Amino acid sequence: MASAAYIDDSCSEVIDPPKTEALDVTELVGDHIPHSPKPNVVVSSSVRELLECPVCLSAMYPPIHQCSNGHTLCSGCKPRVHGRCPTCRHELGNIRCLALEKVAASLELPCKYQNFGCLGIYPYYSKLKHESQCQYRPYSCPYAGSECPVAGDIPYLVNHLKDDHKVDMHNGCTFNHRYVKPNPHEVENATWMLTVFSCFGQYFCLHFEAFQLGMAPVYIAFLRFMGDDAEAKNYSYSLEVGGTGRKMIWQGVPRSIRDSHRKVRDSYDGLIIQRNMALFFSGGDRKELKLRVTGRIWKEQ
Ligand SMILES: [Zn+2]
Ligand SMILES: [Zn+2]
Ligand SMILES: [Zn+2]
Ligand SMILES: [Zn+2]
Repeated sequence: MASAAYIDDSCSEVIDPPKTEALDVTELVGDHIPHSPKPNVVVSSSVRELLECPVCLSAMYPPIHQCSNGHTLCSGCKPRVHGRCPTCRHELGNIRCLALEKVAASLELPCKYQNFGCLGIYPYYSKLKHESQCQYRPYSCPYAGSECPVAGDIPYLVNHLKDDHKVDMHNGCTFNHRYVKPNPHEVENATWMLTVFSCFGQYFCLHFEAFQLGMAPVYIAFLRFMGDDAEAKNYSYSLEVGGTGRKMIWQGVPRSIRDSHRKVRDSYDGLIIQRNMALFFSGGDRKELKLRVTGRIWKEQ
C-alpha cells in the first residue's frame, strides 16, 4: 500500500466530502463489509450537507436542534449560541428536529479511513464509534519529546521519522547502542532518544529517556512496535546494560505505538536503571553518562 499522510479533520468534519454528487458504494462490495449495501446507501451530498452543523461544520448526532424557522444546529453548539439561531438570529427555543434525526439513522456511509484501506460501510450513528477503533486509522508520530502532530500509516511515519526527526535507522534484530550524555544530572525531559530498528519486515522504536520515578532519577529503555497491539504481541525483546562485571537484563513485549510514549513510560514497562547505577555502569568520574545498551528482538512462535 502506498504511504498516506493523515490530517486530522475530525473536529471540523466527520463525514468525508463526496467525490461526486452521489456516492455509490456498490463498487466496494467485499468480504470486509459488515453491512450489505442496500439501495438507500446512495447518499446524495445534499443530505450530507443537511447533516452538517452550520456552526462547527461537524456531522450532527441526536439531539439535533432547530429554530422556529427550521434552521438546524448540533447539540454541542446549542449552548454556545446564547439562545439565538446562528442562521437567522431568531430565538432558538427548544425544538428537536426529529425528521432529520430519522434521516440520519437511515444512512449508511463508508468509514472515513477508506483511503487507508478500510472497506467498512456503517450506519450513520455507529460510524463514529467504528472510526475511533478502526484498525486502518492512522498512527500518531511516535517521536517523543515534542508534540508532533503528524499522523499517517506506518510507511509514511517511517519516512517522516527519517526525514523530519533525523532519527537513527538500523536494520537487523540485534542492536548495540551507546548513549552518551554529558549532563546526566538534568532529568526532567532532559534525555530521551529514539532509534528505529527494522527487522521481520516490521519497524520497532527503541526509546531511551531520563525521568523522575518518585524521588529517584532513573533512565528507562523500552521498545514500541510500529503497528497494532495484536501484532505487537507476536514479538519479544531483551535489553541488557552493564559494566564493571555487573549487568541488568530486561525481557519484554513491545508495546504498540497506539499506546503513547508517556503511557508506556508511566507504566514502567521497560528496563529501568537508577541514575546512580547508570553512572556506575558508565565508569570514569561519574560526570558523564556512557551507557551501552544491547538488545535483541525475536518473533514468538
Ligand atoms: Zn455544531
Ligand atoms: Zn433560524
Ligand atoms: Zn474503518
Ligand atoms: Zn513527528
